[in-house]
Amino acid sequence: MRVDFLGFPVDSLDMRDVLQRVDGFICSGKRHHIMVFNANKFWLMRRKSRLVEIAQQADLILPERVVVMLSRFLRSPLKSDVAGVALANELLPYCEKKGHSIYFLGARSEVLESLMNKVRREHPALRVVGYHHGYFLQDGNEAVLEEIKASKPDVLLVAFGSPLQEYWIRDHFDEIGVPVSIGVGGSFDVLAGLKKDAPRWIRKSGFEWLYRLIQDPKRYWKRYSIIIPFLLVTFLIEGIFGFERRAH
Ligand code: UDP
Repeated sequence: MRVDFLGFPVDSLDMRDVLQRVDGFICSGKRHHIMVFNANKFWLMRRKSRLVEIAQQADLILPERVVVMLSRFLRSPLKSDVAGVALANELLPYCEKKGHSIYFLGARSEVLESLMNKVRREHPALRVVGYHHGYFLQDGNEAVLEEIKASKPDVLLVAFGSPLQEYWIRDHFDEIGVPVSIGVGGSFDVLAGLKKDAPRWIRKSGFEWLYRLIQDPKRYWKRYSIIIPFLLVTFLIEGIFGFERRAH
């Protein structure tokens, strides 16, 4: 179920498998880390060996659409796109139904407030045991860590962006002791409805990146002018023509 994507481990699962694994992680009571793998992670992991180590230790590494699409040309195609906003959209109703509790950590204060209002409206039975914006790191972690430990969530969603969120989860992994920690990047902005998610037909066509670029060019230009082309060129050289990748 874990396959190799240009030298990095990625899990081939559908959404049902992922939700079952989340359930199993929560029932086990032990700590687990779920990481998302996308073009940005590929770019970062080729440069930051700590992120590679973290990925190797992660309990699940879930691919986003562009990775799933490219994997179709490789020996081990990935089952489906189960990361990012798609995951959050399934996870919230699932946790609501199962009675699992969630702590939301990250994004700007006003984004998080809108998200919490939306969650209360759309998932009234969801057990939200706490939330905190993501701009506290410069003032120290202690108060936030204490709050998370005291609220004992089953699931901790961390939305600081990468690699900050993965480093933070690993740095505090033992201390917080949450059964499932997931780094969800910029998903809170989309879930809150402040940034529009691409319509389904655009997502299916593989042009979600263009939609995001038009919405927020300042934030995404680097990703799409450097990071995606880097993934595509590396994919051609190493994945299709089979040239050795450099050691990392
Ligand atoms: N963010 C945060 N704390 C920080 C820096 C960023 O909470 O110190 C939030 C930011 O408000 C945004 C998210 O992290 O909601 C980053 O989103 P982006 O799409 O850049 O992350 P990616 O999905 O690419 O990792």
